[in-house]
Parts: sequence; C-alpha cells; structure tokens
Amino acid sequence: MIRLENVSKYYRSLSSVGVGIRRVTLELSQGEFIVVTGPSGSGKSTLLNVISGLDTYEEGEILINGEETSHFTVDDWESYRASQIGFVFQDYNVIDALSVLENVLVALELKGYDKTTAKEKARLLIDKVGLTNRLHHRAGKLSGGEKQRTVIARALAKDSPVIVCDEPTGNLDSASGKDIMALLGEVSKDRLVVVVTHSEEDVMPYATRKIRMRDGQVIEDIVMKDVRKEHDRESFIVPTMTFGTLFRQSVRHLFRTPKKLFFMVSLQVFAVALLVFVYAFLMASSDTLIGENAAQSDSSHQMRIVRKDMEEVDASYFETLGPVQDIGLYPTAYEAFVAFSLPGERDPLSNFPLGEIRMENAAVLDDQDLVTGDLPALGQVVLSDVMLELYGLSVEDEILLFDRYMRFDNSVGMRFEIAGTTIRGTKETVYFNPGIFSDQAIALKGLIQVYGKVPYHYTMEDGALVANTFGAGQIVFSDQLPSGTVEVPVHLLPDPMETPVYAFDFVFGPYYGQSHLFHVEADDVNQSAAMHSNIIMSRSFEDDLIDVFLGEQYQTNDIIVNVRDLTDGRLLSGMLDHQIYRVFYDVNAASTSARVMSDREFRTLSYAVVLGLGLAVFAVLGGVMKSVNVDRRKDFSVMRAIGAHRQDLAASVMIETIVTSVIAYGLTLVIAFLAIAFSYEVRLAMRHVDITSYGWLFVIVMMLSVWIAARQNRKFFGYSVITALNQNGDDAL
Ligand code: ADP
Ligand code: MG
Repeated sequence: MIRLENVSKYYRSLSSVGVGIRRVTLELSQGEFIVVTGPSGSGKSTLLNVISGLDTYEEGEILINGEETSHFTVDDWESYRASQIGFVFQDYNVIDALSVLENVLVALELKGYDKTTAKEKARLLIDKVGLTNRLHHRAGKLSGGEKQRTVIARALAKDSPVIVCDEPTGNLDSASGKDIMALLGEVSKDRLVVVVTHSEEDVMPYATRKIRMRDGQVIEDIVMKDVRKEHDRESFIVPTMTFGTLFRQSVRHLFRTPKKLFFMVSLQVFAVALLVFVYAFLMASSDTLIGENAAQSDSSHQMRIVRKDMEEVDASYFETLGPVQDIGLYPTAYEAFVAFSLPGERDPLSNFPLGEIRMENAAVLDDQDLVTGDLPALGQVVLSDVMLELYGLSVEDEILLFDRYMRFDNSVGMRFEIAGTTIRGTKETVYFNPGIFSDQAIALKGLIQVYGKVPYHYTMEDGALVANTFGAGQIVFSDQLPSGTVEVPVHLLPDPMETPVYAFDFVFGPYYGQSHLFHVEADDVNQSAAMHSNIIMSRSFEDDLIDVFLGEQYQTNDIIVNVRDLTDGRLLSGMLDHQIYRVFYDVNAASTSARVMSDREFRTLSYAVVLGLGLAVFAVLGGVMKSVNVDRRKDFSVMRAIGAHRQDLAASVMIETIVTSVIAYGLTLVIAFLAIAFSYEVRLAMRHVDITSYGWLFVIVMMLSVWIAARQNRKFFGYSVITALNQNGDDAL
C-alpha cells in the first residue's frame, strides 16, 4: 500500500545538516499493525510525517498504491492526507473549543456527510471509544486519555485506511495508556496502523510487525503475523466543503467561544462606530461650513420655489414631502423685518438700535434645538444664543423689530418677546412662530419694504419714459388722502425746471416673482413741504396691493418652503423635478462661488478619509485578532492534518471575520440609533448620514474585514502543516 524506496529526509540548517531518516526502504500494507520503536531522535516521527504526507522527503521515492509521489504538489498531499490518513499524536490534537461530538463531526463533515448522517455516525464512533457520557463536553476540558479517545474517534470517523500514531500514550498515565492501545488494537482491523511508542509491552498484543530504528535507519523489521492484504481503495479525492458546511462550522466556532466573540465584536463595534461617527462629523461639518453658520445673508432653512412655466405652485404637493417643515404662502413675509432695537425706557421712540436680523421660521426647530425657554408663540421669537449673548439680552426681554434698518428714530417698530434661545442659527437669526408667515399684514409689510428706494418712472414732455428712484424713507398708507392720490415730499423730487415729471409709476413686488405697477398722473401727486422722506399713499393703493399680491385671485407661483438645514435642503432639491420647478436656494448659490470642492467631491473625500482611517484602525484590529486567534492556528493545523483544505479553512476565517463584522455593523447601527434617540448632539451629526452613506460605509467595513482576514490567512496558512504543528508545540511551551 505504501512503499518507501531509499527514502531520506534531511533537516538543513545554516550550520549543519541533520538526518531525519536515511535510505529507508519499507513496504507497509493494509491490515498491518506496526509498532515503531527506537531511541529518541532516531527518526521515528520523521518516518511517520513522511509517510503521512505531513513532511516532504528529499531522496528516494514513496509509492502510494503504486503511484509515485515525488511530483506531488501541496494540494495532492492535502488530498492524500484528507482521504487516507488518520492521525493520533502525543499532544492530543483536539479542537479545544468544540465538544467531543463536534470534534468528530468536523471530520465527518469534511468527508461530505449530511448533517443527520454525520451526527448518527459520530454518536456510534463516540460510543465505540467509550465517551458517550462526554458527548457534549468541551474537548479542551477532558482528561488526556479522553482527549486521545476523541482523537481516535475522529480518526475513525475519517474512515481512513491508514492511522498513524506518534507516541499516543506519551502523556498518559499507564492505565489510560493501556486503554488507548487496546482501543487502537480494536480498530486496527482492515487498516494500516503505525504506532510509534516507548511502551512496547502495552501494544505488543495487537502488533503484527515491529520496526526498530536508530540514527534514521531501520535496524530491525520483524513480521510477527502475516496479515498483508491487497489494498482495494484507490482514489483519494476529497470533496471540498460546501459553503453551507463552511458557514455552519464558522458560525458554530464563533458562538462556541462567546467570550472571544464578544471581545472581537466589541472591538469591531468600536472601530466601525469610529468610522461612522467620523463620517457623520465630516458630513455635519460640510453642512456647517457652507450652511447656516457661515452664512451671513443666506439661509439654509429657506428654499424659494417657482414654477418655470409661472403657473401656480401647488403648495399641498410640498406638504407631502418629508424634508418640508413648513410652507410660507406669502414669501414677502420673510422680508417684513430686517432690523431690531431695544425699546426705550421712557419714550418708545427713544429706542436703542442694535442690529440686523434675518427672519426664520421656527418650524425648522424642535424642542431639542432649544437651549433655554420655549418655541415661540405668535408675538414671540426665539433667538440664537450667540445673538442673545452678543447683545446682552435674556429670555423674556422684549425687542422691537423694524422693516427697515435705521428706521429707529421715527417708528416704534413691532414688539416681540424673546421666548427662548437655540444653538442653531447665526448672530442675526430670529425664529418666528410659523403663523406670522401667513399673516397678511406682515406679508404686506415685507412687500412694501423699500430698502431706501422707491422706483418710479417719469414721463418727459416728448413722451419718453425715464426710470428713476426716490431716495425714500417708507411707504405709508393713509386714510387722510383722497383715494388714488399720493403725497411726496418735495425734496425727493427732481428740480421741476430741469426735469418736469408728468407721471409716476410706483413699482411694487417681491424681490423674486412678478411686480405690480401703479401709474399715477402728476396731477394726483401732491407735493408736500414735509421734512421726512416718506411717500404717503392713499389707502386705496394698499387695498389694491392686497388684491394683487395677497388676495384670493393671487396665483402663488412663488412659495417659500422651510427645511431643517442644508442636508434636508439638498434632499428636497433632489426630490423635485427641476424640469418643472426652479429652486432658489441661497446656500447653494453662496457655496458655489465660495466652496473649494463640490458636494460630490467632499463626499468622496470623506469616504477616502474614512477608508484611510479604517485601514489604520483595522490594521490594529487585525493584530489583536491574530493574537486572540493564536490557539486557532493549532485548530487549523489539526483540521489540515485531518484533511481540511487550506482554501476551505481560509474561507472559514473569512466567513468568521465577515460574520463578526456584520454583527458589529448591525450593533453599531443599533447603538447609533439609540444614541440618536437619546442625544441631541449625536442626532444633529448623524442626520447627515443617509441610507446611501450607510450602504457605502458598510461596503468599506466589509472591504476592511476581508482585508484583515486575508492578512491573517497569509499568516495562518503560509506554512506547511508540520511546521505549523511544530510551531504550535513551541508556542505551547
Ligand atoms: P524521534 O521521533 O525518533 O525522536 P525525529 O524523527 O523527531 O526522532 O528526529 C530525527 C532527527 O531529525 C533528530 O536528530 C532530530 O534532531 C532531527 N529533526 C527532527 N525534526 C527536525 C526539524 N524540524 N529540524 C531539524 N532537525 C530535525
Ligand atoms: Mg518523535
């Protein structure tokens, strides 16, 4: 069955060449029970390793079932071991983490038995070696004798024609040793059993042949009983494990070592969480960089939407869109107030000017955004806490708001109470109750907001129309004036000798959208000697304005939708059909000119940062994993010795790593969502991570896991089995 012809094995080191075996010629046949004896260092182990394909030989030829093996590749030897050889070593190569049953099952699974058959066979074999009462004990916790029985059951499970035993009782007390030898004697029928031992007398009753070695050579070969048979097994093809088996084995191993699993998963959760949060903060910072905090005159909360065909915008459609917090039907309401002051202590007109404001809709805030106080009711506002601090204000103070900057001296403004403060917004941001943005009076205020200029045209004598503006204060509607008449302070008008004005066209309208023009003949414009710069118009003009811009007939082709911030703004913009809608989003406009890179580039860069950081973190993780897994190296060597393919074992390391990563990723998400539920800061950052980002982060984490698993596999499987087994011995010492 196995024939050695002048086989030699040398161990070369830098300084010397040691002899393992020298010119050994032997023929081993099925049915034999061969006892190999000899002093230590005589080459017994080398002989076993060579005939079982654990180690290579350099001279001569080994024929297995007549086939030459000198040309065998690593894979050929692997298949040979898998199909032909059962091993029993001195230091009991059980897989410590698995139960007795599972240790045996591994071998059966390697042979491709289905689950039920494998279990059945395993139980029978375990019964045969007398370990039924230890079926579910962890192999690592068994006594030496029991471990060796497990190994024998496993060797039997392989149903291999050859069983090699290298000092199987070397570590056992003499009683257990006798038992094991008896067991070997019992199972040797029809097989080739080669036993290296020092306890000859225990094994002699079963031996059919005795070989003695010295200095790497066979010096005595006595056949006591001729049991040679022709061998009837041929091929040593081993099925590779199916993915299902691999997966089952991997998962079983993972959950069989819960402490290790917990430790590894915790580390991975930490690593993954780090990556997710770093990504989140990068995204959040992109928001802050070009979003509300950097904006002076822009708002990330407001998007103005116009239909390209100038038809009416259907506000109810926008109400259905997730990112939309509120819709302002009167866009001009957002321009009603631009400045604020403190009310004067005695005289309401002696107020104390403070600065500019920007109107925001408090619908974009939630309770969590508040630092102090409450969300604003009508007549109340919430200020950013920077603004509060900057102007030395406090909650419950009252402020006056004006429709024009530097209007402080001749108007009392509109009084609002500070209801609370928020960490959001800039030093100019004032959040109003959403109701104010559907208030007609406020909307009108915004509409006639003049920024110091009232456009008008005057018609020359020859009929030519010339555009000009008044350096006006404000438009005041008055019940005093007859309907359709206007009163303009004379100092605002051009010199009548040079530029006689025949008619005026007062132009009103929002900054975006259509404007409306009141044509007033010069006859209806009274000049007054007033010192102020206000243009006083009769109430009828106001009524007309309301009709045109705020009335039933008005077509809202221009609405303002409020979104929580830049992230939602982008989201909403992405949801809209840009063939139909024109979206004015100041933040985008501002960032286009100012930003260093595009949104997509920033995102890509963020992923690159995460990947780079991931490489560093996972490299460390891989190192930890390697040291946690040192004992697995022994398991793998054992598995290889009993016939597992390297690729399969490597695949199971891969599977285990991926499974723990998936668990870790899942747990990280759970933790993240809990953190989001309970921490405002986390929510603020994490809301910038969308589904797609979670997807990409998952891909990155999986890539990193595969990477560390591959690195680990190189370490685990870069050696021959015997080197690995020997190293394990060294490690154990
Ligand atoms: P035995 O099992 O009979 O004690 P071995 O087969 O282990 O003997 O060893 C035979 C000879 O080969 C010894 O001289 C030993 O030092 C040498 N040898 C065995 N394994 C190695 C090795 N991995 N490297 C170098 N020399 C070795
Ligand atoms: Mg030895």
